[in-house]
Amino acid sequence: MNTGPNAPQWTRLRKALARWYAGAKRDLPWRRTSEPYPVWVSEIMLQQTRVAAALPYYERFLQRFPTVESLAEAPEQELLAVWSGLGYYSRARNLQKAARQIVAAGGFPRTFEGLRELAGIGDYTAAAVASISFGLPHAVLDGNVMRVLTRLLADGGDIQSPKTRARLAAVAQEFLDKRAPAEHNQAVMELGALVCLPREPQCLLCPLAAQCVARLEGRAAGLPVKLRKQKKVEVELALLVVEREGRVLVWQRGAGEGRMAGFWELPSREQLPAAKMREEAGSFRHTITHHLHTVQVFRAVVKRVPAGYHWMDRRQMGEIPLSTMARKALRVAGVD
Ligand code: SF4
Repeated sequence: MNTGPNAPQWTRLRKALARWYAGAKRDLPWRRTSEPYPVWVSEIMLQQTRVAAALPYYERFLQRFPTVESLAEAPEQELLAVWSGLGYYSRARNLQKAARQIVAAGGFPRTFEGLRELAGIGDYTAAAVASISFGLPHAVLDGNVMRVLTRLLADGGDIQSPKTRARLAAVAQEFLDKRAPAEHNQAVMELGALVCLPREPQCLLCPLAAQCVARLEGRAAGLPVKLRKQKKVEVELALLVVEREGRVLVWQRGAGEGRMAGFWELPSREQLPAAKMREEAGSFRHTITHHLHTVQVFRAVVKRVPAGYHWMDRRQMGEIPLSTMARKALRVAGVD
């Protein structure tokens, strides 16, 4: 591995990055504020969710829960309904747990360590809120930042290994502009999102290009190295859309069902073996972590409704936390 830039080179890189960010940054709603509550909500949403997909959810979430107090007091079903479609529901539950911790403490913790104590807040989110909201000198390390740094230094270590992550965290901290940590952190992430792209890095547009070792050695596209890959598992599933007088048959997951607890689902063919298939409405693909589902959607009828199932008014479907898979199936069947 390269030993990395020296102090004057880091200074040049910081300046070039800041100049680039001032001209290239996207105008995103969470960038118009430094208040910890919206910053925190956006950071949690943007984990595992792309910016374009998160935007409408962010607006809706803050409309429904404009303060940390309103989030702390919200009924869980309402919270999950607003989050419904974003996936990774433990994020929403942890947001509420943390909101209750914040309200109980009388306000947001104003240190990295204090933020780190909150439910669902790891090193990344604590550093993001600490720097953006409180101007504290903590560097963020997410997938975008790791990509930029491994390329800048041509670091071929496996980014899944704790050793490589610790090394990159130290590099990120060295790179950080301690006088402007909020802007700097966002600038590195933005560079990763807009220029230092995973497959096709746009090196000609990059403010770090002059000192980027991977670019100079022609190795950018091969970095970062990610060794452990979970094997994909194919799953086939048939979901039933059973409709009667404007109502749809659904069931609700129990409290012991982990991240999906409390969510509403459509019945599968296995669950209702006595249901009569009327026609196939279509099919879709849906990925949950490493499970690739191929879902066939059937319109069906039932004579008797088994225990545990409910008729839900079509118009109410937007008000309940419905799993993403059920939502997609309803769309395929034209019931949304
Ligand atoms: S020069 Fe290319 S590879 Fe290096 S940081 Fe910039 S975009 Fe990424």
